[in-house]
Amino acid sequence: MKTLSAKAWLWLGHELDAWADTGKSADFWWRDDDATGPGDSLDRLVGLSYNWDAPLALAVIPSRLEPELIDFLQNRTLITVLQHGYAHENHAVHGQRKLELGGSRASGLTIVDLERGYQILEQHFANRFKPVLVPPWNRIDDQVVSRLNEIGFNGISTMKVRRKAYPAPGILQVNAHLDPVNWRHQGGFIGIYLAIAILIQHLQARRTGYRDIDEPTGILTHHLVQNEAVWHFLEDLLQFLSNHPAASWLDAATIWK
Ligand SMILES: [Zn+2]
Repeated sequence: MKTLSAKAWLWLGHELDAWADTGKSADFWWRDDDATGPGDSLDRLVGLSYNWDAPLALAVIPSRLEPELIDFLQNRTLITVLQHGYAHENHAVHGQRKLELGGSRASGLTIVDLERGYQILEQHFANRFKPVLVPPWNRIDDQVVSRLNEIGFNGISTMKVRRKAYPAPGILQVNAHLDPVNWRHQGGFIGIYLAIAILIQHLQARRTGYRDIDEPTGILTHHLVQNEAVWHFLEDLLQFLSNHPAASWLDAATIWK
């Protein structure tokens, strides 16, 4: 009798086998949010990335950037930097879900914040910074999206299947699809069954043409809050994908050329 966990990995393996049968590679990408400085959990995250040769896109909060992060990432070329809003502050109006890039803040001021953040990351990370915006809480007003290319962005990343590849001219959207954290339980794990089911659902929808096959399947992590169960799942997933010939990783520089 197989455990639920063993069965779940088997199901994921079957889905990847189906990709192999069609001669296609199932591409994945990995985003981690809320980085500001180095520390034990970032060490652990970057260690996993290197151990499994999985490129990591680190969404950094510009206004809270600690100079030590610049040194830390200097020679770690598997890691790219994306822009996580500006200050990760909530400007939602009453009754609205949390968001920084919109809400009660005039869009002109939001653009100024984003420009400032962009300059900080470009100055410190040079070409390791990819001009891709990751809106805090994965939310942003459409008005702001339409002005992102004025600042220099060429991409955006939020959550779940994208509605369009290009929500504004020159702005390629590639989202994350699996967030294994259960946010109602302080960084706990959503569980192996649900996590694998979300991955299979996205992969199957791509493979069968029900969803956009060109949007790589995105894994989202939160190194500062996720608990041990999430860390273990992440390591198992990285190991599993590295062992399956139909699975491959895309780095942010390849996605957003
Ligand atoms: Zn965040």
